[in-house]
Amino acid sequence: MRQPLVAGNWKMNGSLASVRELLAGIKAGIGGISKCEVAVCPPYVFIPVAQAELSGTSIPWGGQNLSTEQSGAFTGEVAGSMLTDFGCTYVLVGHSERRTLYGEDDAVVAKKYAVARAAGLKPVLCVGETQEEREKGITEEVVARQLDAVIELEGVDAIGDGVIAYEPVWAIGTGLTATPEQAQDVHAFIRNRVAEHSADVADKVRILYGGSMKPGNAVELMAKPDIDGGLIGGAALKAEDFLGICRAADDSV
Ligand code: PEP
Repeated sequence: MRQPLVAGNWKMNGSLASVRELLAGIKAGIGGISKCEVAVCPPYVFIPVAQAELSGTSIPWGGQNLSTEQSGAFTGEVAGSMLTDFGCTYVLVGHSERRTLYGEDDAVVAKKYAVARAAGLKPVLCVGETQEEREKGITEEVVARQLDAVIELEGVDAIGDGVIAYEPVWAIGTGLTATPEQAQDVHAFIRNRVAEHSADVADKVRILYGGSMKPGNAVELMAKPDIDGGLIGGAALKAEDFLGICRAADDSV
């Protein structure tokens, strides 16, 4: 049985005051949630706030990105070891906004996955196709390529150390959600692809869905056998919405 995970990707949102309020809201409402792991990924500068507020709770926190490098003359970058210094458990790698807006290709994403592991972080590998790729019928090809880049560099056991998030690019921040069937098809494809290398890793790796998930559509998505939780953007910025999704994941097991 895989423990569901719901992780909030706050992207570049919030202020010191709003982050404190959001964390307080999540902490206040998490009481009834016992089976689902709940995590937050704030912008870098708010990670110490998350650490101060969440230490001693059941809620881990993580980064949204990290450098491919360990240290040195890389102005503006943040190393994996710095995230671990501030108590991070998780780090997102390969989010579609990083891939499209900042030109991160599969090789860069695989390297980030590797350095995250080396720093003791659990990478959340984001994969997913664009609208155009779905229309061309190459969703599986795209997702396989994104996944294989990590397996080829780090081996399949590395996949077992992290989490995969299937995030169709056309569903991120658009209000369009993949239907539970569309999502399940790709999740099953991903799990089978991992199983070609290791049945054990495929069985244990958590595959999250991300893309306009809300309390209203979370129950149906979480009911699918290969959907093990969610990576949540917009709805993670309101404690009640985020907790509603967490409750749906909690009730799914
Ligand atoms: C995301 O950015 O990872 C995401 C899933 O965003 P949203 O929930 O807003 O679609």
